[in-house]
Amino acid sequence: MKFATELIHGGNPIDPEHGSLSHPIYLSSTFAQHSMDLFGRYDYARSGNPTREALEEAVAGLEGGSTGLAFASGMAAIASTFLIFAPGDHLIVCEDVYGGTFRVLSTLFKGWGLEVSFVDATDPAAIAAALGPKTRAIYLETPSNPLIKITDLKGAVALAKENGLLTIIDNTFMTPYLQRPLEFGCDIVLHSGTKFLNGHSDVICGFAVTADAELGRRLRFVQNAFGAVLGPQDCWLVLRGLKTLKVRMEESQTSARRIVAWLGEQKAVAKVYYPGLPEHPGYQIHQSQASGPGAVLSFELVDYQTTKRLLEGVKLAAFAVSLGGVESILSYPAKMSHAAMPAAEREARGIKDTLVRLSVGLEDAEDLIADMQRILG
Ligand SMILES: *Cc1c(COP(=O)(O)O)cnc(C)c1O
Repeated sequence: MKFATELIHGGNPIDPEHGSLSHPIYLSSTFAQHSMDLFGRYDYARSGNPTREALEEAVAGLEGGSTGLAFASGMAAIASTFLIFAPGDHLIVCEDVYGGTFRVLSTLFKGWGLEVSFVDATDPAAIAAALGPKTRAIYLETPSNPLIKITDLKGAVALAKENGLLTIIDNTFMTPYLQRPLEFGCDIVLHSGTKFLNGHSDVICGFAVTADAELGRRLRFVQNAFGAVLGPQDCWLVLRGLKTLKVRMEESQTSARRIVAWLGEQKAVAKVYYPGLPEHPGYQIHQSQASGPGAVLSFELVDYQTTKRLLEGVKLAAFAVSLGGVESILSYPAKMSHAAMPAAEREARGIKDTLVRLSVGLEDAEDLIADMQRILG
């Protein structure tokens, strides 16, 4: 099946009992058993629920994985994944990793004994230099947040395989429609499904997908033991949101390209970060591993006053945290996604106080441009 067909029919078979096209929502915490010797497929809903399973299979299928697991948030998926490691293990993590991932690693997991080196993952030599005897995994985001840096997945996977490491990638920005890291040999794909996968700004959820079934079993053990599962009603909303993933991504991406072209001509805009720009240093690599630049871009304004006027003055794009919804969202990384990062650390990583990030939704691109033009004029 091609991607669009898989979105509609994968993991979401027509209900064999009554023929409902929409997957039933099983609001049950437990399932009655008929035999002392053989329990049925479901016993307790933390361990498994038919609605969650339909969603898990759908997301696994889209990423080309064998196992998919749905969690209560992107952070729950990410933190649960870190629990497959043991105290004393060492991870190499891209330095402009999502702020919440940085926070959980530098506080809770640091206290627990997980060692982490944050490196500029766009530089293969920097990844190699961080390798140590206890290194167990490389953790990446490409494009990264909010500076839209591109990491060579095939290069990272080759290095990981040579050294017996897992490669873990947060694929939230691209979605499997544009980038399928398991095809390049990555081991675990993570998502904040809150963003493009659900796409309607009405659910907090996360996913982990593995290619290898044994690794999938290890993660499933954590999912059940730690218990940060996604509830069946939210699972149903995501099943519905997923069906339009392709059309949403295509439309938002087309608008993002137009907006990037417009931003490039504005005097008030100092710099635009978007992997669809041929002058982007990661352009070639991105082209080789993803089928499009996506719908998230960042840009720097000429000064702080202009930045403030834009963020407080736009009417169409919401000034808010998050991305990947049908509504465009303009966010301010220094005080939002990266607020958990100390100011010095943030500056060192190039996240200036004139940087804004735009997630392009489904409004008409001309309206979005006119709204910003009014302020940047
Ligand atoms: C939002 C986000 C997360 C965290 O997901 P939640 O669903 O908010 O817990 C992780 N990674 C990236 C890249 C994100 O954008």
